[in-house]
Amino acid sequence: MVRIIAVANQKGGVGKTTTAVNLAASLASLKRRVLLADLDPQGNATMGCGVDKHRLVHSSCDLLLGDADFAACRLRLEEPGFDLLPANSDLTAAEVGLMKIAQRERRLSAVLAAAGQYDQIVIDCPPALNMLTLNALVAAHGVLIPIQCEYYALEGLSDLLNTIEQIRASRNPQLVIEGILRTMHDPRNNLANQVSTQLITHFGDQVYRTIIPRNVRLAEAPSHGQPVLRYDKTSRGAIAYLALASEVLRRQDKRRSSS
Ligand code: ATP
Ligand code: MG
Repeated sequence: MVRIIAVANQKGGVGKTTTAVNLAASLASLKRRVLLADLDPQGNATMGCGVDKHRLVHSSCDLLLGDADFAACRLRLEEPGFDLLPANSDLTAAEVGLMKIAQRERRLSAVLAAAGQYDQIVIDCPPALNMLTLNALVAAHGVLIPIQCEYYALEGLSDLLNTIEQIRASRNPQLVIEGILRTMHDPRNNLANQVSTQLITHFGDQVYRTIIPRNVRLAEAPSHGQPVLRYDKTSRGAIAYLALASEVLRRQDKRRSSS
């Protein structure tokens, strides 16, 4: 059974794309068949995988609007079992085009259901609670929420949680919080430690034990068009995302056996 994870937080720059790319690559290295779906017009996940967003023949935009089928849009990456559904600024037009389509918030769900062949699908969402993010949340089984441990970290989180609650009630009863992930963490920063503790107090077991450290290799890897596991597999960033992938799989197994 495929598990679809939307990496979402409407707050910008919290590590969504870094998490989507590196979680997907790490899951592939653990022998899962993985699709990384770029649902952000910025196309950062696409570029981070070494694909030039300016030279796409087809993209997630065509797929959402029904202008191309999945096989025509999907690209195979260097890592075995790791595919990319790329995106670029055309997706901004898709948002408008979707408005004319019936069941517009279920488009991604429909196309991913027809994609078959994957164990895990990771969706990189844009920094907004818009029609694209709505499509991701309607398609997903779980939402992974990256949170940067800083002063304003929790601001806006209640909007996201309310949106998830509404979608669960009206459109996607299976939707759960896959997990809350602490990103760009610097243990020498007292505030980061305070926010981290606050998250555990509020959300308990929903917070992943794995913490993603601030690591320069993670920031450098996208400029080389590589997941960090390919760029520098011994870096602290690579090790952290591998640990996260294992934790994600462990939690999924646990959830499956208790349901
Ligand atoms: P947006 O909301 O614009 O889509 P985002 O939530 O996807 O942003 P990223 O693009 O993943 O965030 O990260 C923002 C910036 O922080 C990027 O320059 C990225 O390289 C850097 N970054 C992310 N995670 C880390 C980390 N753990 N250590 C160091 N740099 C990081
Ligand atoms: Mg991003």
